[in-house]
Amino acid sequence: MTARVLVIEDHPPSLDLVRYLLVATGYEALVAEDGLSGLALAEAESPDLVICDIQMPGLDGYQVLARLRANPRLASIPVVAVTAFSMVGDRRRILEAGFEGYIPKPIIPEAFVAQVTAYLPPERRIALPGTNG
Ligand code: MN
Repeated sequence: MTARVLVIEDHPPSLDLVRYLLVATGYEALVAEDGLSGLALAEAESPDLVICDIQMPGLDGYQVLARLRANPRLASIPVVAVTAFSMVGDRRRILEAGFEGYIPKPIIPEAFVAQVTAYLPPERRIALPGTNG
């Protein structure tokens, strides 16, 4: 069974790009344009991985992460931050908040799927060309 990945991102072109890259690889993509919608989708669908933008109106990525971690049914889902932050210290803050990892924007299409795949349970990964799976 292929991985189901929830993407929470308020910038529609970025959301479309991530969805395209995931689906083209063979993963199932669930998408939400704000944190509350994303949390509702996570509750309904129990995805294998959440990819979450940090800077969003309403709930930001840190708040989304906190609410996922506070929900016993969702607390163990890995959550990867995607953000344009480039200041020194942001990566540390993101990891200390409890995100499994951090993918910087701009997204590099050739690298993105491999970055995401590394955070999936091994049995849900798709073997990528040029890698050992
Ligand atoms: Mn954003």
